Amino acid sequence: MNKRTIRDLGDDQLRGRRALVRVDFNVPLDDAGAVSDDTRIRAAIPTIEALRARGARVILVSHLGRPKAKPEPEYSLAPVARHLARLMTGARVTFVASTNDAAAVAASQDHTGDVIVLENTRFLPGEEKNDTALAKALASLGDVFVNDAFGSAHRAHASTEGVAHHLRPAVAGLLMERELEYLGAALSNPGRPFVAVLGGAKISGKIDVIERLLPKVDRMLIGGAMACTFFKATGVETGRSLVEPDRVDMARELLQRGGGKLVLPTDARVAPSLDDASACREVARNAIPATMAMFDIGRRTEQAFGESIAAAKTVIWNGPMGVFETPPFDRGTNAVALALADATKRGATTIVGGGDSAAAVAALGLEAQMSHVSTGGGASLEFLEGKTLPGVAALDDK
Ligand code: ADP
Ligand code: MG
Repeated sequence: MNKRTIRDLGDDQLRGRRALVRVDFNVPLDDAGAVSDDTRIRAAIPTIEALRARGARVILVSHLGRPKAKPEPEYSLAPVARHLARLMTGARVTFVASTNDAAAVAASQDHTGDVIVLENTRFLPGEEKNDTALAKALASLGDVFVNDAFGSAHRAHASTEGVAHHLRPAVAGLLMERELEYLGAALSNPGRPFVAVLGGAKISGKIDVIERLLPKVDRMLIGGAMACTFFKATGVETGRSLVEPDRVDMARELLQRGGGKLVLPTDARVAPSLDDASACREVARNAIPATMAMFDIGRRTEQAFGESIAAAKTVIWNGPMGVFETPPFDRGTNAVALALADATKRGATTIVGGGDSAAAVAALGLEAQMSHVSTGGGASLEFLEGKTLPGVAALDDK
C-alpha cells in the first residue's frame, strides 16, 4: 500500500501522545437504543489496542446515522461508548458529550482516560461541509491522526478528510490498511482465474463497477434483478421482473463488449409477487411467465456459478443473487456464499463488498470463512469503481 499506516510510526510518535482516531462507529441501534450489530465496533479494536500497546492515548471520533447537523439524542454515541467499554475490558473507556469544544480538548489532554469516545461528528454543522475551522478544531485534539474509518472514506468530511490537512502524521489504521490491501490487490494483481459475482437490485448502481471490472476479470457472473435488464437486452420475456428500461441498450452493449466473460443465469426462481412465495417455481430463463417476476437465480445457475467460483483463485462478490430477505428467494445468495466459503478453504482469495451481501454472509455465520468481508458498503463500491477515496487520499504517502 502506498499510504503510511500506524506500523510506519516510530515509538516516539506514539508514546505519551494523543492519537485522534476516526473510526466507523456508524452501527445500527435497536428500539431500546442499544447496539444491535457491533461488527464495526469490533473491527476497530485492533487499531485501538495497537495504539494503546505503544503508549498512545486514544481519542475516537465517528459519525452515527444522519442527524441534521445538530444534536439529536437518538444518534448519540453514548451507547456505542458503553458497548466498546464492555468489549475492551482491559481499558477504561470514557464518553465525552462534546466533539470540538474546550471540554473535548481538556478531555483529550486528561491522562486518566485510556480511550475517549467523543460525541457524533454529524452533530456539528461543519462536518459534512468539510469546514476548515472544524477540521482545525478536531486536529487540536491529537498529536497524530489515524483514519480507520474505511466505511466513511468515500466522503470528504471534516473528520475524514479535512482534519488530515491540519494534523501530521496522518496515517491509516489497521482496518483501513486491511481493506485497501485486499481490495487493492484484487484489482491490481489478482490470482487467476479472477471471477466477479455481481447482483443486487439495479444495474444503474453497479454500472461503473461492471465497466471497471470487466476488462480485469476472467468471468463476471450476473445475478439479482440486474440480470433481468440483461435478459431484456437479449429479447426474452421478463414478465413482472424489475427491469430498468433505460438501461437495456447499455446492457446489450456490455454483453457485446464482454464477449463470453459475462455469464447470465440460465434459470430463475419466479413468483407472481413476493407475498406469494408459496407459488414459487423454477423456470428456464427464456420461460419467465408474463404474470411472474424473477426473484432469484435458479438451481442450475447456482450450480454453474458454483463451478466457476470453485475454479477461481480470486473472487469478488458484490450484490445478492435474489431477494434474500424473503425465503425461498435467499437460496441463490446462500449458494453463492457457500461456494465462496468452499473456495476460501481451497486457497482462493474471496472478498465480499456491499452492505447487503455482507449481511447475507453474516446471517449464514460465514464471515470467518471469507478472506475478507468489507466493512464499507458504499466505500468498497467506489473503490472497485476506481474512484479516489478522499479520506484515503488525504493520508501521508509512504
Ligand atoms: P449490496 O448492498 O450488497 O451492494 P444492493 O444494495 O445492490 O447490494 O442490492 C441488494 C438488494 O437487491 C436487496 O434488497 C435485494 O432484495 C435486491 N434484489 C436482488 N435480486 C432481486 C430481484 N431479482 N428482484 C428484486 N430485487 C432484488
Ligand atoms: Mg445495499
